[in-house]
Amino acid sequence: MSATQFDALAYSALEERGDAVLLLPLGATEPHGPHAPLSTDTLISIGVCERTAMRLEGELDVLVLPPIAYGVTRYGAAFPGAVSISEATLSALVTEIRDSLAGQGFGRIVLVNNHFEPEQVRTLRETGIPLLDLTRRANAERLTEEFRSGSCHAGRYETSLVLADRPDLVSVERMRSLEAKLVPMPAAIAAGQTNFLAMGMDQAYCGSPAEATPEEGEQTFDTLAELLVELIREVARS
Ligand SMILES: [Zn+2]
Repeated sequence: MSATQFDALAYSALEERGDAVLLLPLGATEPHGPHAPLSTDTLISIGVCERTAMRLEGELDVLVLPPIAYGVTRYGAAFPGAVSISEATLSALVTEIRDSLAGQGFGRIVLVNNHFEPEQVRTLRETGIPLLDLTRRANAERLTEEFRSGSCHAGRYETSLVLADRPDLVSVERMRSLEAKLVPMPAAIAAGQTNFLAMGMDQAYCGSPAEATPEEGEQTFDTLAELLVELIREVARS
């Protein structure tokens, strides 16, 4: 554990740090292909938060809160491992954490989300808490081609990120054997499809996981940290 982790500290180390920016990593526990862990989204959020806290060392006090590893995740329900909570529960969890911290004088919190089911993103937006929202066009445009295509669940984009931080959790042999699957999820969702199987994701992935590399993952983490640094600077100014 690094010193940037909120819950790695003793309470005495938190005194007079009310100006700190607290990052709340959010993900989901849901199927990510036959090759990647259920924790993929959560791991990505944690990886971005940790890199960002390190980058801002000496400029801003940034602490990473314990992650919320459960999200609103219904599309993968046909597969084992999809554990969903409701919008109301997610909203209550996030706002109660914000309020509890605010009560102790921590007024700056930023949500860092990497699970993109529309109901998850909408719920987080509606809390009004600053959110690293990668589904916004201005952010998505700076990410990889596969991410921008929307055909990116447990594909090259996400699997590369996991390979960068937790290669031990990826079955690389399995990954290399997976054929590319083009499923533009945002369009499928807009057309009313609400489960992976109906979208043609018979192994709970789309995109090109076989092309994933840790190098691409590290590069994407760089970009994600850049986006988060920009958001944190905005929050710190306000
Ligand atoms: Zn994911």
